[in-house]
Amino acid sequence: LYDRDGWLWHDGEWLAWRDARTHLLTHTLHYGMGCFEGVRAYHGERGTHLFRVAEHTRRLADSAHALDMPLDFSEAELIEAQRLCLKKNGLANAYLKPTVYFGAEGLGLRAKGLTVHVMIAAWDLGDYISPEAASIGLRALTSSWSRHHVNISLCRAKTNGHYVNSMLALNTAVKAGFDEALMLDPEGYVAEASAANVFLLRDGVLHTPEITSCLQGITRDSVIRLARDALGLEVRERRITRDELYTADEAFVTGTAAELLPLRELDGRHIGARAGAPPPGRPIAEGSVTARLQRLYRRVTRGELGDDLVAFRNWLTPA
Ligand code: PMP
Repeated sequence: LYDRDGWLWHDGEWLAWRDARTHLLTHTLHYGMGCFEGVRAYHGERGTHLFRVAEHTRRLADSAHALDMPLDFSEAELIEAQRLCLKKNGLANAYLKPTVYFGAEGLGLRAKGLTVHVMIAAWDLGDYISPEAASIGLRALTSSWSRHHVNISLCRAKTNGHYVNSMLALNTAVKAGFDEALMLDPEGYVAEASAANVFLLRDGVLHTPEITSCLQGITRDSVIRLARDALGLEVRERRITRDELYTADEAFVTGTAAELLPLRELDGRHIGARAGAPPPGRPIAEGSVTARLQRLYRRVTRGELGDDLVAFRNWLTPA
């Protein structure tokens, strides 16, 4: 990861990738107080563009504000920096990770005068998930680790330290032979996967948890709008129990990196068995709502808008 060509954007300047250094006493390294984003750029019919970069950048600015980490850069400047990061590195299909962190001016929780820094790294992502993997989807285990509580952490902020909880859940599930962890909120209702939001389909209606304990995912929002506007589906945001996932007709997770991935099995239950869904490990049906939403999401992110998706063209920012 260290020894390679490329440029990182750091506080308004360009840093050669292999020269990037951070002091060992960097405050965020010690306490996890910082925030970040995961943004994607796609190369498609309309050239290279960032997908929903304004929404990601707003979430980053909101996270920093909520954490009381004042930024020296406006959202417009940060969007431009992300665009330049693609150009300078000659990237087309890329993942970008803008990160806000505290400097090394002091140690301890009471440290004063900490400086707030912003860095942007971008790298080639290619297709990330193959079409086969996107059709086979995931087998998940409900985690014994609870997701965040509104009075324990800032659930709207994408805070670095939150990912300790995600990794505990994911690592436990992976060690037990599963692909993903399903996380419940502290009251036992479905929250999200380790780094993705969750949806279920039952009797033609889509349901997804309210954003109380899960991240307000931008892919979640894209999928809600595509389902409503392009497929005419009803979408309900509400409390969901784990047995509703067991007995759903279909289920899937959403995230910038994962896009839409079918959830095929939870705690050993074959999701959609009653509705005739193929067994876990086999591709999902082409005509399923999950597959239709996957195709719409694929088209909209790659700029293949057509008449049905033209209303979403402002989600694309040319690089
Ligand atoms: N929840 C968590 C905990 C995540 O880390 C992510 C990925 N950013 C998501 C949900 C999905 O959010 P988005 O669609 O904005 O990538």
